[in-house]
Amino acid sequence: MSTQNIPAKSITSCDRCKAVVSDGKARGTNWAYGGGLTLRRNALDHAGAAVADDSRMYDLCDPCLHAVAQAIAAAMEPPKRRPL
Ligand SMILES: [Zn+2]
Repeated sequence: MSTQNIPAKSITSCDRCKAVVSDGKARGTNWAYGGGLTLRRNALDHAGAAVADDSRMYDLCDPCLHAVAQAIAAAMEPPKRRPL
């Protein structure tokens, strides 16, 4: 009888395009920035009180990180007011 230990392997994929960005190495293909996004928010009960953490964390490959960063920058622009 013999025992063989097989070490665990962590595979990270982009949460947007599903491409594998790391197969256990420090940084894989298209993951030079080691990018990701954390969206912080509370979960609310029926009365509107915060009852739990409902934050989300996303791993993003370099092209998707760039796309998401551009979308955030556009969303953070102040609303344009119509001229009077
Ligand atoms: Zn991606």
